[in-house]
Amino acid sequence: MFFTVTFWGTRGSIPTPGAHTARYGGNTPCVAVEGPAGQLVILDAGTGIRALGLELVERQNGAVKAEILLSHAHWDHIQGLPHFKPFFAPGNAVRIWGSRQGTTSLEAILRQQMDPAVFPVPLDALSASLTVQQVEAGEFTVGAFRVRATRLRHPGTTLGYRLTPTAGGPSMAYVTDNELGPGGHYDTPATWRKDFLAFLSTTDLQIHDAMYTPQELLVHRGWGHSTFEEAVALAGDAGVKRLVLFHHEPEHGDEAIDALVAAARRQARTKGLPAEVVAAQEGMTLTL
Ligand SMILES: [Zn+2]
Ligand SMILES: [Zn+2]
Repeated sequence: MFFTVTFWGTRGSIPTPGAHTARYGGNTPCVAVEGPAGQLVILDAGTGIRALGLELVERQNGAVKAEILLSHAHWDHIQGLPHFKPFFAPGNAVRIWGSRQGTTSLEAILRQQMDPAVFPVPLDALSASLTVQQVEAGEFTVGAFRVRATRLRHPGTTLGYRLTPTAGGPSMAYVTDNELGPGGHYDTPATWRKDFLAFLSTTDLQIHDAMYTPQELLVHRGWGHSTFEEAVALAGDAGVKRLVLFHHEPEHGDEAIDALVAAARRQARTKGLPAEVVAAQEGMTLTL
């Protein structure tokens, strides 16, 4: 075992609690990647990070050290941060990685999120030590992982991440909020798909935005998201072994997602793709 990947939040756009979403989950994006010695990288800080924070504090054996990698700063990817319990005990250390948006720094964005007008505890009052590490597309090391970041096709600056243990081992890609189809005006070069396939090549696990059905996409072009069909086709082109459909559309209940996964698997089978397809489910852990 090189590392595990656990889904704490799978839903796109807005939390959707309730009986109809109980299986796939109603919390917004948060995925924990953990190495065998407890090295932890958290991908996005949607509402799923709240329960993860509670677990980290509970199993705490010494200080909590968390590296949080943000894809971008849309609400659904940061709205759990103010409720991340490790922030509120001295001795814990949290580092948040992500890109600026236009001329607004990542730190300014996080400060605004905890401004007294909208949240009672300002960023400076957190007990844990906090580091904000602004990054761009490129390569850097986060804890025990080598990370490659690439620009995605989504409004604002959104990054997809490829993680590989620094000591070697399998790779995974976390790509959410990404429009694979035509539509939208994004700051990506004409060669984006070729570049993207190179970025994904030989990954053992690919988590990808699969928010829409093809019918729904017709009225959502330019919104920065993909269909499950597009995600499967991409995984096929990239030769990915395992595809996780992610960032579920808020209007999709469990049964709608069941149907979507079944259709995605049919597509993969028909095309003879090697990819095993699953839909992200809150509480699901994959081992690489
Ligand atoms: Zn999103
Ligand atoms: Zn977004």
